[in-house]
Amino acid sequence: MRTGQINVQTENIFPIIKKFLYSDHEIFLRELVSNAVDASQKLRFLSSNGEFKGELGELRVDVILDKEAKTLTIRDRGIGMTEEEIDKYINQIAFSGAEEFLQKYKGQEGAEQIIGHFGLGFYSAFMVSEKVQIRTLSRHEGAKAVQWESNGSPEFTITEIEKEDRGTDIVLFIAEDSIEFLEKTRISEILNKYCKFLPSPVFFGNKTEYIDDPSGEKDEKGNVKRISVDVPNQINNPEPAWTKAPVDLSVDDYDKFYRELYPTSFDSPLFHIHLNVDYPFNLTGILYFPKIKENVEVQRNKINLYSNQVFITDSVAEIVPEFLTLLHGVIDSPDIPLNVSRSYLQSDGNVKKISAHITKKVADKLAEMFKKDRADFESKWDDLQVFVQYGSLSDDKFAEKAKGFTLLKNDEGKYFTIEEYQEKIKALQTNKDGKIVFLYTNSPEEQFSFVKKAKDRGYDVLHLEGPLTPHFVSKMEQTFENITFARVDADTLDKLIQKDEEIPSKLSKEDEEKLKPLFEQVVNKEKFIVQFESMSSDDAPIVITQPEFIRRMMEQQKLGGAGFFGAFPETYNMVVNGNHAKISEVLAAEKEEDKTSKIKQLTDLALLSQGMLKGEALSHFIDRSIELV
Ligand code: ADP
Repeated sequence: MRTGQINVQTENIFPIIKKFLYSDHEIFLRELVSNAVDASQKLRFLSSNGEFKGELGELRVDVILDKEAKTLTIRDRGIGMTEEEIDKYINQIAFSGAEEFLQKYKGQEGAEQIIGHFGLGFYSAFMVSEKVQIRTLSRHEGAKAVQWESNGSPEFTITEIEKEDRGTDIVLFIAEDSIEFLEKTRISEILNKYCKFLPSPVFFGNKTEYIDDPSGEKDEKGNVKRISVDVPNQINNPEPAWTKAPVDLSVDDYDKFYRELYPTSFDSPLFHIHLNVDYPFNLTGILYFPKIKENVEVQRNKINLYSNQVFITDSVAEIVPEFLTLLHGVIDSPDIPLNVSRSYLQSDGNVKKISAHITKKVADKLAEMFKKDRADFESKWDDLQVFVQYGSLSDDKFAEKAKGFTLLKNDEGKYFTIEEYQEKIKALQTNKDGKIVFLYTNSPEEQFSFVKKAKDRGYDVLHLEGPLTPHFVSKMEQTFENITFARVDADTLDKLIQKDEEIPSKLSKEDEEKLKPLFEQVVNKEKFIVQFESMSSDDAPIVITQPEFIRRMMEQQKLGGAGFFGAFPETYNMVVNGNHAKISEVLAAEKEEDKTSKIKQLTDLALLSQGMLKGEALSHFIDRSIELV
């Protein structure tokens, strides 16, 4: 036996390790299991190139919990280490990497934000252990098995031991403050999180399986009895779909892998992109497009980042543009620097390239789908729309490409690109300023009567539902200078698409002045601005609209913007159609009270058609209407 000093400058680095990595203690297991898998992979490699001539056997990794002894052991049958190798890799090199990191970030604010993988590797074992043993037998013929042991001070001992099996046991004597890691469920949870797709088989405990009774014994019904047996519980799938070639995978395989990633999800993805880059950086992965409607936030942050099949994090906001965090799936890249702070990550050249690459791939995929099978693309559009809008709003490069495949759906359920749509409507829906007016509804149900009026006049109406509509509309107006959007209920049709010709009014200025105060008596004039307009006589007698500008302000306000306007009062226009026969009747009524009751009934009807007549007012209206019958 000999003792020695681990080669570090800091007196005792372990308290610092504990303190720094506090929130992330569980990653010790990822580090140790991936080391064990590495050792197995290395041996496989040495065997294939002829350097290792012995029996490979089953290259499995076992995680073994002994609650009584308070130990957790990570066992592999990989390359093992000689005493010299322990000196080189454990006593010197490994620690210098860890130390460098800690020196660099010691005392820095925000260090806790540092992304999961610290490159601390083996030494992260001391986050949870009061003592760690490495018991190892090297692959070399005639090698002597050795045990390295340290209690977390820079001192270690090395002893020769008896060990028959090639490979390494890392034995953790779990510390008092870390006994959670002696719980089977906790260990299962961590393995499932980080090790689910490691490239060599990893086992933890047993699981129960039901098989036909080998003795062939039958039950009352004559079926072979089923018996339960305990079988080793393999916790990982060493060949996840993203590591395979797309030609070897069917749509079914991709769907199955989606379930593997998100076992609790009920949804099926719309489609996927298989990423595979090896220059100028390494990246593989599969991204899935979820169906997104209103539930934007629920879908977010589901992409898992891996490095050589080791799970790193599911928070990829620094690595992909924000709108892509709506996608699901896996990105695996050993080229993403992991032992750096998040803000550094964003400015890293590789990360920028990766981000740009993924954006481009996603846009190209959509463009390709649109071109290849437009009918299929259209069938997916309703679920895709929010994603494409979000992308166009937040990423200029994406927006540029998306112009070609952004679709608009009209009231008849037909889909158009922006250019196609301009062509379709420009003859009828160009206003006197030469702008093509895109009429839309964001709620066909609520705005039914407005949609109908517009269609009766031969206009086309778009359905623009979804949470991003207000922003999307502004963005399109900026992108295409000759178009403007107007929601069908924003004004009367004549105002929405203003033409040169004007309809003469039946009401004189004096008539209007007489009528206005009567209207203002029956409605809240702070909320409803009464105005007269000469519309066609078959339009409604009174129309309630909310000017596009006011509505956009309200929408901004709801989203938390537009603070400088203060609280914006909710106002509407109450537009009286001077040419409607009923308005002429109001004017002609002799008695003042007849005028008022007619006005009351007409304004209530207008409010009712907008779903704005409620509570007491609605109840009065119903009573009055019953009287009229
Ligand atoms: P890293 O894995 O990042 O190199 P670690 O601190 O985790 O850093 O490990 C340091 C070195 O110790 C490894 O590179 C490897 O050479 C050796 N090592 C660690 N665990 C094992 C193991 N289970 N079997 C063989 N060698 C190991």
